[in-house]
Amino acid sequence: MSPARKKAAAKSSKKSSSKPSYRRIATEEAFSTPEQMDAMREILAKTTEYHPDLFLWKIQTDPNGPVNKALLDLEGERLRIMDRDGVSMHLLSLTSTGVQMMDPDRAADVAVAANDRLAAVIQRHPDRFTGLATVPPQDPPRAIKELERAIKKLKLNGAIINSHTNGEYLSDKKYWPILEAVADLDIPLYIHPRAPIPAMAAAYRPFHLEHAIWGYQAETGLHALNLIVSGVFDQIPKLKIVLGHMGEAIPYWLYRLDWMHNIASIKFDRPKLKQRPSDYFKHNFCITTSGMNWDPVLFFCISALSADNVMWAIDYPYQESHEATEWMNKAPISEADKHKIFHGNAERVFHIKKKT
Ligand code: MN
Repeated sequence: MSPARKKAAAKSSKKSSSKPSYRRIATEEAFSTPEQMDAMREILAKTTEYHPDLFLWKIQTDPNGPVNKALLDLEGERLRIMDRDGVSMHLLSLTSTGVQMMDPDRAADVAVAANDRLAAVIQRHPDRFTGLATVPPQDPPRAIKELERAIKKLKLNGAIINSHTNGEYLSDKKYWPILEAVADLDIPLYIHPRAPIPAMAAAYRPFHLEHAIWGYQAETGLHALNLIVSGVFDQIPKLKIVLGHMGEAIPYWLYRLDWMHNIASIKFDRPKLKQRPSDYFKHNFCITTSGMNWDPVLFFCISALSADNVMWAIDYPYQESHEATEWMNKAPISEADKHKIFHGNAERVFHIKKKT
């Protein structure tokens, strides 16, 4: 953080948020592990051509860089920043791209180690941390095995997958057993962004739009839409998906998606759905505010999806904790909605124990 930003953060926290009157549960908060860093360093060392995700991993794996330190830190600076801003809890998840760029054996090992580390830190700070399980989607049977261990034994609160795995989406039927396991365990699956595959990213590259400025949300929105039109929610009606960044632009397009999906004059080769795309989005999805600290889109999403489907998030350490907190503290919405968005919905969706 720059000195000017630090000063602003200190000033704003003094003003209103040092004594939280809300329980504030931030739901898309990243961490890393030495095992993930080592595996990504090895992949980087073997890769010569440009890869949009590895471009960022080069920055993140730099031990002298500020992101590397912030991702590996759980109980030092992170807790101090949470205290400063009045953030009650981080729902932690292994940072994108998780284990999805590793070979299947390494991916399974790094996932197990990450989930164990996560469970240990939650046990030390049960009031401050909860977490999402990392699984290796490239090996569905092992993903399911680790998912069951992470939920039943380690008591984690859901699962996370960072968009595509080797260019494939979860709408591909070979991944549906993972989605069935998610629904059977009664947990949500957070689909977090990563960059589009290199072939798709080529179109974004002239002005470097392949990352969080546009590529991430285009990639993850497409992933979510593929899931909706694949018919998976008719097959697994209990499946609950969480999207960050105010729904990765899907809410804005719901009317047009319904209209175009229903167009009678052209026969597209797509599964027939029981409901409209917007119905699945309203019933099977929740969104978080990660990295979208902006009133107009908050009002819109509450009106389109209801305040029961919106959860607060910071996207620490990639975005500023104090900015996300101050924004939601001041958001001109009802107190009841603010309680839902700050903590009530997260408690319900991620099975987080209510504070008594
Ligand atoms: Mn994020």
